[in-house]
Amino acid sequence: MSPQTLQAPSRKHRRLKPAPQQQIEKGDVPLYDLYDPRHFNLKSVDWVVLGWMSMIHIGALAAPFYFTWQAFVGMLVMHWATCSIGICLGYHRFLSHKSLKLRQPARFLVTLCGVLSGEGSPLMWSATHRVHHARSDHHGDPHTPNDGSWWSHIIWLFMNHDKKCRDQLYRRYTPDLLKDRMLLFFEKTYGPMLFASGIALYAFGGLPWLLWGLCFRMFFAYHSTWFVNSATHIWGYRNYDTDDRSRNLWWVALLAYGEGWHNNHHAHPRLARAGHKWWEIDMTFYAIRVLQFVGLAYEVDDRKPVGRAAAVADE
Ligand SMILES: [Zn+2]
Ligand SMILES: [Zn+2]
Repeated sequence: MSPQTLQAPSRKHRRLKPAPQQQIEKGDVPLYDLYDPRHFNLKSVDWVVLGWMSMIHIGALAAPFYFTWQAFVGMLVMHWATCSIGICLGYHRFLSHKSLKLRQPARFLVTLCGVLSGEGSPLMWSATHRVHHARSDHHGDPHTPNDGSWWSHIIWLFMNHDKKCRDQLYRRYTPDLLKDRMLLFFEKTYGPMLFASGIALYAFGGLPWLLWGLCFRMFFAYHSTWFVNSATHIWGYRNYDTDDRSRNLWWVALLAYGEGWHNNHHAHPRLARAGHKWWEIDMTFYAIRVLQFVGLAYEVDDRKPVGRAAAVADE
């Protein structure tokens, strides 16, 4: 096998997955309309999310007026812990794609880091992300730039989904995760945990730690990961011919700890590594390797998509 040769994904990758929409039950809403911008109006705005995002952005703008080096370095460490370890490793590769398994206490701590990122509950994040892979850049994709670049970057987040819609989404897309008691615990507690983390930061270091450690850190991490939904479906190069607009974009890969190699990921979603060429730096995969080395991660799907292995079945 030649490690230099990246192959096109198998036909299996290139087909859209069958639409779970077909399995509609009595009383269910049409699932793919949940993210249709044509249904977005004042009545469907999620005011809690809009209020939270506004608060975070205002706090981030105020942060430079309360600059301290300690709070700044604390922000960088917490950005790495919540964005790379929590979201990229935990919510994305571990929960959504099952690219690896984690032993306790890493399993709990990694998921907790995801919760503290402020990107929603593990179940909601994973369900939405699985819809994205099932419908990438087609009707039903929650955040495709086909509906506008600002829609894919941020506006889609402001669409309200009631409990019935959420339950339906979980039933269809995360039945495996619904059996996990730890995730059900976080589903109930992620909101209070976020507020508690803000109070803890303020108690620890006053306004500089609240503004840098929470507001600026979340603002920075939000846009880093949102660029994966927007920029890497617009700009960059492609290693694989996939049925979507996914691209590899170096600056998003740096900001989002490897997730910017998004065309690689769409072609081979199950693989733990997102960087497929030697220079495609993937900080999250290096963290997975460290966890594997110390025995906290196992059954890591670390296959390389080269030669015959390019046809590995990614489900
Ligand atoms: Zn994508
Ligand atoms: Zn993914």
